[in-house]
Amino acid sequence: MDYKVFLIKYAEIGTKGKNRYVFEDIMCKRMRARLKPLGKFEVKREYGRIFVEAHSEYDYDDVMKVLGTIFGVVGICPVVVVEDTAFENISKAVVDYVANEYKNKDFTFKVHARRNDKNYPKSSMELNCDLGAALLESFPELKVDVHEPEVMINVEVRNVAYIYSKTIPGPGGLPVGTNGKGMVLLSGGIDSPVSAYMIAKRGVELEAVYFHAPPYTSERAKQKVIDLGNLVAQYSGPIKLHIVNFTDVQLAIYDNCPHDELTIIMKRVFYKMAQELALANDCQCIITGESIGQVSSQTVQSLSVIDLAADKLPVMRPCIGMDKQEIIDISEKIGTYETSIQPYEDCCTTFVAKHPVTRPKLDKILESEKALEGKIEELYQKAMETVEVVYCR
Ligand code: ATP
Ligand code: MG
Repeated sequence: MDYKVFLIKYAEIGTKGKNRYVFEDIMCKRMRARLKPLGKFEVKREYGRIFVEAHSEYDYDDVMKVLGTIFGVVGICPVVVVEDTAFENISKAVVDYVANEYKNKDFTFKVHARRNDKNYPKSSMELNCDLGAALLESFPELKVDVHEPEVMINVEVRNVAYIYSKTIPGPGGLPVGTNGKGMVLLSGGIDSPVSAYMIAKRGVELEAVYFHAPPYTSERAKQKVIDLGNLVAQYSGPIKLHIVNFTDVQLAIYDNCPHDELTIIMKRVFYKMAQELALANDCQCIITGESIGQVSSQTVQSLSVIDLAADKLPVMRPCIGMDKQEIIDISEKIGTYETSIQPYEDCCTTFVAKHPVTRPKLDKILESEKALEGKIEELYQKAMETVEVVYCR
């Protein structure tokens, strides 16, 4: 069926009191921006509801895909609009709707009518009964079930009438831009894009940082991170990706620190650099893909030592309590999995020790880091001054 209008359902933002309009505005803006390349669309608010109206030809699947990436959207209902609200018109449209929309009529249904014009010649109850009767007359196989209908036929009579019964689930969450901004440490793995997605889903705008170590990590590894950034940006909106050339710092750590502590010390430098970039770009948190126990640098002891390297901002780790399979399930759902599993090395794997510490002590690590004094500052500074910026969208 050729739909011109979609009703957008949103739940959580409906509970935000006075801020509700701010939330709705941001969500509408995001829908407009994402729909723009797909045709002429109007996103409008009416009667406390959000509608998307198509004013040109469009591809239904593309539109559904895009609306399915807008956080805040709980459901998308394709709607038939009846311009002339005379009862006979609505009744005919409801019958046509069921005829077109449901090939097999062997289901139970209920009509749920609402009207906001109290002068309309029929009450909501009368609409329910009369439209139900019209459907039964046209399709005797249908059965009414007012308690648990398989199909709820919604009819809303306003200056026009809307008919809808199907809801395509949206991603839920809160519109991006309603909850500050975070700096995600984006690697080429499975976990960090999932973490980025999960935090963006709570309304947080994203920037990202990737630590690149050429020639130990290839251009293809870097491109993979940019590709992942582009995929996450389909949900989060544009991501400013900071690419730090980490090679010289990495080599300095390698040359001066105990090899079983390399990963811990490197991660601590990641956190410090990420924090500096975050603060310089108005981000209020750091986001990583760590999950307890996944690798030696993610034991609780390791995480607690790494965590202290970011002393000015909170580190958010939405995957922290998830099993690998649970993380993979999300990455498959959001479409990052296939890219994440491409086998390009990352700088952690190149410099990883055979037997890394799994229970580092902060004192010991701080002691080891002393060997970097006078050797790392300039390299650190240079890395920060030569950051390459790529916009993922
Ligand atoms: P992921 O699947 O996200 O790569 P991982 O299981 O490989 O995670 P680690 O390599 O220990 O785990 O990395 C833990 C977290 O540190 C990552 O989720 C990511 O947030 C960050 N990280 C690791 N390597 C890099 C990198 N080269 N650049 C930016 N962030 C990184
Ligand atoms: Mg990784």
